[in-house]
Amino acid sequence: MLYIIVYVDNNNMSGAKKEIILVVDDAPVNVTLLKRILENAGYGVLMAGDGRQAVEITIESDPDMVLMDIDMPLLDGYSACRQLKENDKTSAIPVIFISALDSEEDKVQAFRSGGVDYISKPFYMDEVLARVKIHLTIRDLNKQLEDTNRILETRLEELTHSQEQLRDKESKLTAFVSALPNLSFVYDEDGRYLEILANETSLLLYRPEDMKGRLIDELMPMLEAKKMMDAIHQAITTGQTQVIEYKIPVLSGGEHWFEGRIAPMGQAQAGEKNKVVFIATEITERIKLYQEVQNLACQDPLTSCFNRRHFMNLASQELVRATRYGKHLSMLMLDIDHFKVFNDTYGHPAGDRLLCELVRLCQSRLRGSDVLGRYGGEEFIFLLPEINGEQAIKAGDRLRVEIAKLAFETSSGQQSVTVSIGAASNEQEGGQTPDLETLIRRADQALYAAKTGGRNCVRLWTPGMDEQERK
Ligand code: GH3
Ligand code: MG
Ligand code: MG
Repeated sequence: MLYIIVYVDNNNMSGAKKEIILVVDDAPVNVTLLKRILENAGYGVLMAGDGRQAVEITIESDPDMVLMDIDMPLLDGYSACRQLKENDKTSAIPVIFISALDSEEDKVQAFRSGGVDYISKPFYMDEVLARVKIHLTIRDLNKQLEDTNRILETRLEELTHSQEQLRDKESKLTAFVSALPNLSFVYDEDGRYLEILANETSLLLYRPEDMKGRLIDELMPMLEAKKMMDAIHQAITTGQTQVIEYKIPVLSGGEHWFEGRIAPMGQAQAGEKNKVVFIATEITERIKLYQEVQNLACQDPLTSCFNRRHFMNLASQELVRATRYGKHLSMLMLDIDHFKVFNDTYGHPAGDRLLCELVRLCQSRLRGSDVLGRYGGEEFIFLLPEINGEQAIKAGDRLRVEIAKLAFETSSGQQSVTVSIGAASNEQEGGQTPDLETLIRRADQALYAAKTGGRNCVRLWTPGMDEQERK
């Protein structure tokens, strides 16, 4: 016979879900008694009269607990309990045996078949309630534990997933960085080397292990260190990538040029130092090429002295400096005498060689601050800083004498040439400092005077030469 009681909750007014207990006993008197006890304590009660019904009701109604008699018709309590434990749907429901069988063996079998507790008949109301409550609490705690475990498992899965993603990103980044021909560094705001990623360690200033933890100021040449630290601070303050070029001696020997790109690594946490990423690319070839192009743009292709344009640039800067600091400055204009005849007699290539040798001689006689340029054809111009007119004549005359002594190889044996030189200086006339064009014009006028005065001589410009030209 199946007893099902539809319960009304008198004790549980809180609205919390009432816990349901299935009472299984073939003796209706026991069932009624237990039902009353449990209902008075606020539980909902389902009832079954044998093991088979107990299994069916448990599967269908999912009670919170089963109080199970052992000795019953159709299916005994042990077998019913085993069936419940074997079924995933019901295995977690605690089963407490209540039986008159009281031997040790019965109790052991009760636990073996999956029961959580054993109450002997005749039972005491308080004992039944206490054990029910304990096992419901244990069940709740187990559930909570399972829930927590599940949450932890999900979290672990997420973490594993993000770790995998992170590892994936990291390996991509490492592959990317190792494929770069650059040197990469991470510095803190003090310029301390935190990370060094270099495929080509021979391009480093020192071995990575000797650099890590040290400061730029300790390792780099002073001027380069300052340039780098300024750029690091600028990157941190502005949040903008900075680009610098610098030259340092490297492990493989010699000095190499690098372009450094410095980018801030986001805002530092409180108490932490700001960091920057520094990517260095070797640009020695580029710099050399640039310097070559620059030189070519400044050089006379035949003699390799400065061309007229570059000479004019340098001369105007020198003139500004000399004027500002009240220094002397002179100019010499040199022209080969009868060079047309030389060319006509010994050939143009011999004339070219003569021009080159003449330049070489002049350059070897000049001071470091003097500047020589090819003004055009066989005319050369000299800028002599901190030299007054009188000294300029002396310098010019020394050159003239040395050139006259030079022996040039020609098809007709050794030949020599003479030169005429005009000199002008920035010594003021009437408080006026001449500009560059004026100074050059005066040197040219003086050269003209040297030519007309018989060649192979030096003349210093005088105001009279201006007058003469005007006539
Ligand atoms: P002067 O004493 O009056 O200066 O006579 P000059 O013959 O030197 O002067 P002129 O101006 O009549 O002739 C200059 C010559 O310089 C003519 C030209 O062939 C020669 N010349 C100019 N540039 C070059 C050059 O690059 N190579 C060679 N070989 N000759 C050059
Ligand atoms: Mg000439
Ligand atoms: Mg000439």
